[in-house]
Amino acid sequence: EPAGDTQTIGGELRTADGVPILLSININDPAEIDALDPATAGVGLMRSEFSVASVADAANEERQLAIYRSVLEQAGDRPVTIRMLDIGGDKPLAGLEDLPVLASGLRGIRLLLARPEIARVQARALLRAAVFGRLSVMLPMVTFPDEIDRMRELFREEAEKLGRRALPHRMPPIGMMVEVPSAALMLDAFGAAAFFSFGTNDLTQYLAASTRDDIDADAGKAAPAVLRLLAQAVKLTAGKPVSICGDMAGNPHYLPGLLAAGLRHFSVAPARRPAIRSAIIGLNADGTRAAGE
Ligand code: PEP
Ligand code: MG
Repeated sequence: EPAGDTQTIGGELRTADGVPILLSININDPAEIDALDPATAGVGLMRSEFSVASVADAANEERQLAIYRSVLEQAGDRPVTIRMLDIGGDKPLAGLEDLPVLASGLRGIRLLLARPEIARVQARALLRAAVFGRLSVMLPMVTFPDEIDRMRELFREEAEKLGRRALPHRMPPIGMMVEVPSAALMLDAFGAAAFFSFGTNDLTQYLAASTRDDIDADAGKAAPAVLRLLAQAVKLTAGKPVSICGDMAGNPHYLPGLLAAGLRHFSVAPARRPAIRSAIIGLNADGTRAAGE
């Protein structure tokens, strides 16, 4: 099942008034899986672009398979959500300079669909890795529902090819990042997504007409708008697993607002986990402070 399920894995965590909460970690470097201590629900976001430094890496199915397999095996029976390459825009990939990536919105899933040879290699590596653990695949920068349909079709085609070569593989649940405001507003149109995870870094940038470098300065002022959008979007998730993996989730200051918005699964940088854990224990599920806190 997808990473956002409510099954309690790796240590019980509840709000002061007893509502179960999942706390997962974000990893960039696969070595950070070491931070998956017994109290962590799983890996809520692995940014695969940090494991792929060049076009040659992106074309190397066996190398990617080995990396994803190692993360899944270390996670054991805990869920791992690996995000497909989020490249383009402010996240360039060496060797892809032929695309006008810096000047356009060609980033994340758009770039993957524009360069399907890159997506096909990663899809095969992920399909093959899925037999080694509880993998979910997440799509970055999804803007329109047809992008999910097209990527799912690509996965089906690659699964069929693997089947013809008798290579073991499994179709993972495929969900999406919610980090583009138009997608957040229209979340009920994304029936093809198996789960949702809010990316408040890009959501803040695109909502506030800011730039990524200015997010730290603007995040506080933009937070009320981001929280309002999150609260609306959570209502459109139709009971599917939903989490938040943007940096807002790792800042205890925003936790009351995120709980009030209905969020129950937080994925944070490993260093942020202890602070978020203790903050959750001191709050009620509606975000109010527990009596005596
Ligand atoms: C986000 O945008 O909030 C997110 C989690 O993705 P990234 O930080 O990798 O862009
Ligand atoms: Mg993002």
